Amino acid sequence: MLIDNHNRQINYLRLAVTDRCNLRCNYCMPSEGIDFVKNDKLLSIKELMQISQVLVDQGIDKIRITGGEPFVRKDLMVLLRELSKMKGLNDISVTTNATLIGPHIDELKELGIKNINVSLDSINRETFERITRRKQFDTVHNNLIRLITEGFNVRINFIVLDGQNEQDILPILEVMKHYNVSIRFLEEMPFNGGSKNFATIKWNHKAILDHISKQYSDFEKLVSPATSTSVNYKIKGHKGTFGIIPSFSRTFCGSCNRLRVTATGDVITCLYGKPKTNLRDIVRTHSPEENIKDAILEAVGSRAKTGFEAQNEHATTIFDSSMTSIGG
Ligand code: SAM
Ligand code: SF4
Repeated sequence: MLIDNHNRQINYLRLAVTDRCNLRCNYCMPSEGIDFVKNDKLLSIKELMQISQVLVDQGIDKIRITGGEPFVRKDLMVLLRELSKMKGLNDISVTTNATLIGPHIDELKELGIKNINVSLDSINRETFERITRRKQFDTVHNNLIRLITEGFNVRINFIVLDGQNEQDILPILEVMKHYNVSIRFLEEMPFNGGSKNFATIKWNHKAILDHISKQYSDFEKLVSPATSTSVNYKIKGHKGTFGIIPSFSRTFCGSCNRLRVTATGDVITCLYGKPKTNLRDIVRTHSPEENIKDAILEAVGSRAKTGFEAQNEHATTIFDSSMTSIGG
């Protein structure tokens, strides 16, 4: 079992498999001039498996595959097939923009991979295209509806962006009310696609909830698992639920059970902090298992208590890396 220096059990790994993406969401990436890492700096499927195996042996039982866009990696399904056979790993999930998942939906189902988070920040074509800077609205829409109707546990991640998509908060709840889906509204974080810092972000948890309350007076707060990052609600008459992820107040730190490994092997023990170690060189040595294990124990043994403490590791309040390398 992995226990950190604040007595929190770590059983959830967010594994980024690439820093590349076929969209250019304006809160995540600049439109051009992105310095993608060279292919040989990315972990291979074999290396991702080796690292995952050590971590599962240490007590990780849930892995979320993220990126960049995981499905731009041509060999992603090889990884998912292998992970689905790994003993001790009870839950594999994927976070995706849903542009490229279509051809893989049947196989995901066969592999038992049912938890899919889809990032969708607008239900309006023009807004979607403005935010993502690409014309993929129909593909995303069709894949999303297919995932929901074919029985996947789908959560929609919707980042509320001042001046860009707030007009879609209520419509997305309305459009999705007949579907068993969870819509999670996220506060924007100041990663390098934009220039904001936390203090200037208008759509925080309270503002989002106030906005929804004006339209829907009849909703209840749900009891969520202690490790949930979202505060969850159910509107009367809606099949699904909605949630808000409070990046500002970070009320979730006390029960944080997650560890992040980026596509280049950086180990991040808190989303708000800096990488603690890198596993790529270690995994490329002759017999790396023991060394990976030790590096993880050391990183987990010196975790910041809260996101606020971890954020002090950055020189400014604007983070110097992109979500596309960290994976959200
Ligand atoms: N490409 C996949 C996707 O978009 O779902 C996976 C990677 S993406 C980096 C993971 C999550 O990070 C997405 O839900 C995305 O909305 C979120 N994200 C990216 N930039 C963000 C930001 N500045 N603030 C908050 N969330 C962000
Ligand atoms: Fe790509 Fe996801 Fe970032 Fe959008 S949020 S640019 S889909 S990695």
